[in-house]
Formats: sequence, structure tokens, C-alpha cells
Amino acid sequence: MAKVLCVLYPDPQAGYPPQYARDTIPTITHYANGQTAPTPKGPLGFKPGELVGCVSGELGLRSYLEKHGHELIVTSDKEGPHSEFEKHLPDAEVVISQPFWPAYLTKERIAKAKNLKLALTAGIGSDHVDLEAAAKAGVTVAEVTGSNSISVAEHVVMMVLSLVRNYLPAHGLAVNGVWNIADCVERSYDVEGMHFGTIAAGRIGLAVLRRLKPFGLCLHYTDPHRLSPEIEKELGLTFHPNAESLVKEVDIVNLQMPLYPSTEHFFDDKMFAKMKRGAYLINTARGKLVERDAVVRALSSGHLAGYAGDVWFPQPAPLDHPWRTMPFNGMTPHMSGTSLSAQARYAAGTLEILESYFDKTPIRQEYLIVDGGKLAGTGAQSYKLT
Ligand code: NDP
Repeated sequence: MAKVLCVLYPDPQAGYPPQYARDTIPTITHYANGQTAPTPKGPLGFKPGELVGCVSGELGLRSYLEKHGHELIVTSDKEGPHSEFEKHLPDAEVVISQPFWPAYLTKERIAKAKNLKLALTAGIGSDHVDLEAAAKAGVTVAEVTGSNSISVAEHVVMMVLSLVRNYLPAHGLAVNGVWNIADCVERSYDVEGMHFGTIAAGRIGLAVLRRLKPFGLCLHYTDPHRLSPEIEKELGLTFHPNAESLVKEVDIVNLQMPLYPSTEHFFDDKMFAKMKRGAYLINTARGKLVERDAVVRALSSGHLAGYAGDVWFPQPAPLDHPWRTMPFNGMTPHMSGTSLSAQARYAAGTLEILESYFDKTPIRQEYLIVDGGKLAGTGAQSYKLT
């Protein structure tokens, strides 16, 4: 019998929803690269479209785990030595956590987790786990690759349009009874004809490029691996050998690379100084990719016209985090990858990974980040340990 420790975000403040805005969600069976969506043996312990990412939703895992004699602990209490998370960590065999409400699995916590075999990210992005420490401790790290890539890509498109067109301030004026058009439009532009560049064109970055193509933008990208000539031609892409070259040329930058030790603070004062005056930056990848106070300085000086994203450090962000109040920001709490549609896929993927683990069958390569003491699968392609 295994103890499975699952850390999820708290329930809605008004309580677990008695009903939903819609009755069904579309069924997605394949992703753009041909990968199949999660295929657990099942049955699923939830109806797709239900809120399963919060504590009461339990990712729909209880019936499966208890039927197989395992113990499931679900909590949102994750900070500090007296938290429920630390209390259960020493004898947990599996830890499930989400990037939206990350249970940081630091080196120190991994050292305490003597029984830990599997750290499973219900979503994408396992930077809240010290991957090097996990590798050394023989812990397998897996995530549900592909499950929320389109959810995030859609959020990026929304943020591009809302920043450039000045949507959020204009909406604020409308709901506050104001009808001053000049106030709405003094910072409002069309995206058509602008230059847009993504730093990293993996699953999400490429999906963003494809979705922005019909808006008539000139599209740029940089990535350690160049996309195929067919894709470059189809989307009319300009490839840049590095981020410095890209940020000099584009009006809107999208940051979509993973966070690992050498990408921390990738955007600092120096990188902002290389951007065009009046450029916009979107970051739905990870908060720590951007130096917290450098972005505030770039916005306050007018060098950067806007910053939007949904990733912060730490999470949840403290009340006095300057990104909550800095000028021209379009921030949201970390929500892009946890729409109800995304939850249905990553909860099913979590079940699929657990089934493989407990049945002692291989976990899909694309879900693996660390295995056998080293980076593996998707982890070997996209992450670095230093
Ligand atoms: P992928 O693994 O598909 O793509 C990541 C891309 O980043 C790869 O193409 C990789 O290059 C590239 N890359 C790695 N290092 C660098 C670098 N130094 N400079 C430029 N490019 C680099 O991941 P996804 O697209 O699915 O996700 C990307 C990130 O988005 C995740 O790591 C996560 O942090 C974040 N994310 C956020 C979510 C949210 O809810 N806000 C949800 C999901 C993900 P290559 O493999 O070609 O070497």
C-alpha cells in the first residue's frame, strides 16, 4: 500500500461549484504533433468539465487509489515545516503537485522524503522540483506533457491582444460608468503589421505562432533546435540564432522556454535595454525567468509598453508583490494551464501515469522528466540540470 500525497489549490472561496457555466466540453483525442491525449485504463473518477484541480476535486483520483488499497492525502497546506505537506512527506511514496500551487520539492525536502519514488506534476513544468536532487535520490519525475499546451497558447494570444489594444483599462472605464474614448485609445494599437517573436518554439511556442498567423503579424522565433523548413515556410518565420537578436527586432516578445538554473533571470536590465522602446513582453512560462524589479523599472521608465503573464515567484504571490501594481500590467494569477478543459486532460494523464507506475509498466517517454538518475524523455530534450 502506497501513500500518495497530493497538493492542490484551495477550493473556490464561495465553495465547490454546485453547477457549471457549460454542460459539456469538447473531447480532444490528439495534439498537434500527433501525440495522443491521455489514455488511462480508467474509469475516470470525474466528469470532464468538472473542477478537479482544487482540493475537493482531488483530480478525481480517490476511487482508483482506494480501490487498489492506496492511501490518498489531499491538501493545499504546503508552506513551512509544520504544513500538512511536510507532515506527510517522510512516508509518501508518490507526491503529486501542480505548477499553479506548487509544492516546492527542494533538496532539503527530498532528503526528508525517504520513501519517495515518484514526483508527478499534474500539468507541465517541473521546475518546482529540484531535478538534480531528485535524480540523485533516484526519484522519477513525470509531467503530463501536452495536456495544457493549447490552453496556455490561447492565454498568450489573449494577452497579446489585450495589451496592445489596451483592453483591460478600457474595460475598467466601461464598468466604472466612464465614456471617455480618448482615455481608452491613447495606448491602443492594432497588432496587424507588428513583429512578434517567441523565445522557444516548443509545443506552446509553436502553437502561439500558428494562432497568431491569421492576424497579419510578422513572425519570429529562436530555439536551440530549428523548426523544419516546411513549418518556417508555412508560417513565414524569421529564425534568430539567439534571444538578443530577436528582441532587437520585434514589437511583442513571448517567453516560452522552461525554467532551469541557467535560464533564471533571463530577462534582466541588460535584456530589457536591448528591446525596442514600446515593446511588450508576455510570460506564461515561469516567473523566475524575469528579474522581478527589472520589469518594474522597464515599465516605469516607459521603455516597455506592457507586461502580461500568469507566472510569478513565489506562488501564491504575496500581497505586496510589485507585479500586482506596476503600470501597464495585464497579470493574472497562474491560471492559463488550468482551465476546466485542461484539467480534464491533466487529471486523466495523472491517472495514466499512476496506473503505469503501480502496474510496473513503462511511463510514456514524453511524460518523463527524470528517470533512472538522469534527465529522460521530454526532460532530456528541454531541461538542463545546471
Ligand atoms: P516544450 O518542452 O514543448 O518546449 C520548450 C522549448 O524550449 C523547447 O523547444 C526547447 O528547445 C526550448 N528551450 C529550452 N531552453 C531554451 C533556451 N535557453 N532558449 C530558447 N529556447 C529554449 O515545452 P512547452 O512548450 O510545453 O512548455 C514550455 C514551458 O511553458 C514549460 O516548461 C513551463 O515552464 C511553461 N508552462 C506554463 C504553463 C502555465 O500554466 N502557465 C502550462 C504549461 C507549461 P529544444 O527542445 O528544441 O532544445
